[in-house]
Amino acid sequence: MKKSRSERLIFRIAMSFVLCVCLAAAMLFYSYTLKNELFEDSISKLSEISDQNVEILKTKIQAQADAMAEVAARIAVPTDWDIPYTTYTLNKVMERYTFKSMGIVMPDGSAYLTNGAQLMITGDSFEFMKPVFDGEVAISNRQEGLDGEMIITMMVPIIKKGEVIAVLMATSSTKDLQGILDVSFFNGQGYSFIVRSDGRIITSSEFPTSFKNIDNIFTAINDASPANAEECNKMKYDMQFHEDGYIRYSNNADYYMSYSEIGINDWYLLSVIPATVIDSTRSGIMLSTYILCAVISAVFILLMIYFTRQEKKKRRELQEILYVDPVTKGYSYQRFCKETKERLEKDSRDAAVVVLDIEKFKVINELFGYDDGDRVLRYIWELIKGWVRPDEIYSRWNADKFSLLVFYENIQELAERLNSLADIIQNDSLDKRKGFVIRPTIGVYRITDREVDVQSMQNYASIARSSIKGNVSEVCIAYYDDSYKDIILENKSIEDKMVTALKNNEFIVYYQPKYDAVTQELSGAEALIRWREADGTITPPYRFIPIAEKNGFVLKLDKYVFKKVCEDQKRWLDEGKRVVPISVNLSRQHLHNPSFIEDYKRVVEAKGVPVDLVELEITESAMFENKDEFTAIIDRLHKIGFKILMDDFGTGYSSLMMLKSIPIDVMKLDKSFVDDFNDEKGEKIISCVTQLAKSMNIEVIAEGVETEEQYQFMKKLGCDNIQGFYFAKPMPVEDFNKLL
Ligand code: C2E
Ligand code: MG
Ligand code: MG
Repeated sequence: MKKSRSERLIFRIAMSFVLCVCLAAAMLFYSYTLKNELFEDSISKLSEISDQNVEILKTKIQAQADAMAEVAARIAVPTDWDIPYTTYTLNKVMERYTFKSMGIVMPDGSAYLTNGAQLMITGDSFEFMKPVFDGEVAISNRQEGLDGEMIITMMVPIIKKGEVIAVLMATSSTKDLQGILDVSFFNGQGYSFIVRSDGRIITSSEFPTSFKNIDNIFTAINDASPANAEECNKMKYDMQFHEDGYIRYSNNADYYMSYSEIGINDWYLLSVIPATVIDSTRSGIMLSTYILCAVISAVFILLMIYFTRQEKKKRRELQEILYVDPVTKGYSYQRFCKETKERLEKDSRDAAVVVLDIEKFKVINELFGYDDGDRVLRYIWELIKGWVRPDEIYSRWNADKFSLLVFYENIQELAERLNSLADIIQNDSLDKRKGFVIRPTIGVYRITDREVDVQSMQNYASIARSSIKGNVSEVCIAYYDDSYKDIILENKSIEDKMVTALKNNEFIVYYQPKYDAVTQELSGAEALIRWREADGTITPPYRFIPIAEKNGFVLKLDKYVFKKVCEDQKRWLDEGKRVVPISVNLSRQHLHNPSFIEDYKRVVEAKGVPVDLVELEITESAMFENKDEFTAIIDRLHKIGFKILMDDFGTGYSSLMMLKSIPIDVMKLDKSFVDDFNDEKGEKIISCVTQLAKSMNIEVIAEGVETEEQYQFMKKLGCDNIQGFYFAKPMPVEDFNKLL
């Protein structure tokens, strides 16, 4: 089913909308994924840095443990366990390491420090040392040192002969430990510190935005903002279960904090960066993404607008092609049909469809060229334009045919108007210099049935017009009535009957003698076809030749006549009769089928007739259909030996100059010329034509000579031969036989 224009528009808008939505969704999805990925990327970078810090921390602590183990081994070497000597040695070692103080702890808890102090270690602190006495290495959590500074203590066993005899301990300030972590990351915006899994601080950072003087990170975060509670709980929970992770909390500004388990005691390394570090790169990239999306959308929309415009333009151009006639720039035939249909629906006045054709327009094209032809068409169109009333419609239908829709009061008025149109066209000849009269033929269909489609109305008008086409009389307007229907039917029946008629030998050949103008002796004849039906009715050629020309059957008829003439000539030759050349008519259709030349040649040869006894008549107007083709055909016929007669000279538009370029042998002056005999101007023309023809060795025959006066006149002007009722009418073969 075809969609209407508005349906198409709605469909297109809907499609564009869906496309836009899809595009927007795709871009949103993309930006959402990108946003997440950027975030994940930043966070994983943060935890990577944390992990690195953990490694650094562990390596440093391990190095310290190794160094202490070495010291412990050295201390254990002397056989006598000498405390003063040991502390002396430790003092030396301390110079090399950044320990705050060192000391040894005996299994009973008595401790000897490098600063000379002696003390008893008891309680939790001593409990903490228990694993060391079992041979392990340990680090204490944060404690307050004797000088009030926060410290941690590292402990290694002193082993002698496989037995732990004491514990070597070294304290260092938490600041030193923190110092290991104070490497800047994220462009100096991030910092790290160490806490225990229950949030208690081991080291604290001096970073400007860090929490200062706190004991527990959970408490600090919770205190910073009640909104942090959920995130804080998550971290607490994770740490309890030895999980790593990150949270976002706010403390005046927003921060991301990642936590990684260190693997020493229950310590966690916390790394913090301001949320803006992640958010700003993210929003920077997001901004460019949004801009990109906006640009893509804009380009998409612009492209859509561009394509829609292009399509509109194309449609307009197409409409122009469809609705504008390229020659006149007026309405095209399609437009005419459309407008006429609409006008007839609105306007109930009596109306008629008129078809106007230019007689022999082809000749104009041939003689003056197609540009001039178009100029003439435009000129006629202008004339019509000046003639029509404002509410009437007109267009060029095709080639040299124009269609009009006219309104009328009564038939009389319509006839007068159309006559005036014919007069205008005929009298306002485009180029009087060329002596050219444009003769219109007009067919009219008075619209009796408005239900009929416009094309059919035009066909009716055309049928009426074709009844006068080629008719040289003054009548140039024909009105369609129902009798045309009878003609159409009759034509159809003729067409149907023709084929069987040929088989049944219903076509017969009549001969019309030609006489020498001076001696009045028989000089030749023309073969003319007749159709004699079984019941004896004879149909003249003008009834069936045009029909046969339309369907091509004329080719068969002409060949049939040609054969018959050859046979008759042969018979008369055999009978020893005085034979004269006989001309046969060649339809213009032959010019489109040059293969007939070989055919005719074969017939002449087969029948054994000298080729100069059969001559060929071609009508003048046929020569203009294609002059070059025509000349080529004549040349080939001449080569075989056929004489060529130009039939009906004077009815077409051949100028005398044209005679020079077309190689004919005989010119047959048309009856209309002969009828002009008592007109002074006519006389001049005939004498001029005959003289010119003679000067070019072209024989002249006058056709249609009916009276003594005409005969005398033609003879006087120098015609060589006469054909006409004055001497003889076309006659059956038996009668002609007697003349020979
Ligand atoms: P055409 O070839 O010009 O033939 C001459 C026509 O003029 C013939 O009409 C002839 O009867 C008629 N005519 C001759 N003398 C006079 C006269 O003194 N007064 C009047 N009023 N008429 C005269 P016809 O036989 O009716 O043929 C008409 C046309 O039909 C021919 O014109 C020719 O064009 C065509 N035609 C006839 N036979 C054939 C044919 O075998 N093949 C083809 N293609 N066309 C043919
Ligand atoms: Mg003829
Ligand atoms: Mg003729």
